[in-house]
Amino acid sequence: MNRLNTPLVTQETIRAMEDMSFFTHAMIFDDLLIVSQRETSCFVLWTTDGLIIIDAIWPSKQAFDAIVNAIRDAGWGGCPVRKLLLTHGHVDHTGCGRWLADRYHLKTYLSETDDIFWQEHPAKPDRPETWKDYGIDYYIQDKDTVTLGNKTIYVCGTPGHTPGCLSYLFPVTEDSQPHMAALWGGATPPWTREGVGQYLKSLDYFMEAARAKKADVALSNHTSIDNGLERIAYTRKRMSYMPNIYIIGQDGFRRYCQVFRTLGSEMLQRME
Ligand SMILES: [Zn+2]
Repeated sequence: MNRLNTPLVTQETIRAMEDMSFFTHAMIFDDLLIVSQRETSCFVLWTTDGLIIIDAIWPSKQAFDAIVNAIRDAGWGGCPVRKLLLTHGHVDHTGCGRWLADRYHLKTYLSETDDIFWQEHPAKPDRPETWKDYGIDYYIQDKDTVTLGNKTIYVCGTPGHTPGCLSYLFPVTEDSQPHMAALWGGATPPWTREGVGQYLKSLDYFMEAARAKKADVALSNHTSIDNGLERIAYTRKRMSYMPNIYIIGQDGFRRYCQVFRTLGSEMLQRME
């Protein structure tokens, strides 16, 4: 059977990142919620001391409403939302953080490098409504940890996609059994040869960190990378005897990372 080893990313993919007419969400672990529009996803991690949101989709009220609704639907409406962690300083991840900060008075986290990058190099330079529109409370970097209640998130510096891109490893449970989730922060390689080299080096680094933490769960903040919408649809209708489709094992996680290696080498070929 013919299986893809690279995602299909087209001009339509880029346009669809701004389509705020469709959202979906699913509880993918006991303590982890995913919220997606057509192309971009964010996560909400439950802890004993409140919720942590990771990435924030797009700067729109609809994205904010979708995240709030998903939290309520998960039964977590009474939980304080304490933190917003960003993977990197692109508008499709910094997203609706301004609304989240206003509503929840949460603390925001990003690398200092990408906070400056977000300010000085907006992804859509001709559109002020997409520029940096809220502050970062805590700068985080490689080897930092962010702890709330019973959860600790491990921070990996994985520059390449952006200069200060971060990836995260954190524990989740499935039917109370522990697993370790890995979220590669910057999906696609940048458009320079040097940048692709850095991206691939970061990938090796993150794979080693994931191996050390025995990561067996692959998460993506872009649905085109991991059949994201199909995995959500499956999870929403998953019956009790069916496997959790996000748990792919440590070998599975290594194979998943091959997608990023392929993207990197394709980019280098395109530049030749
Ligand atoms: Zn990005």
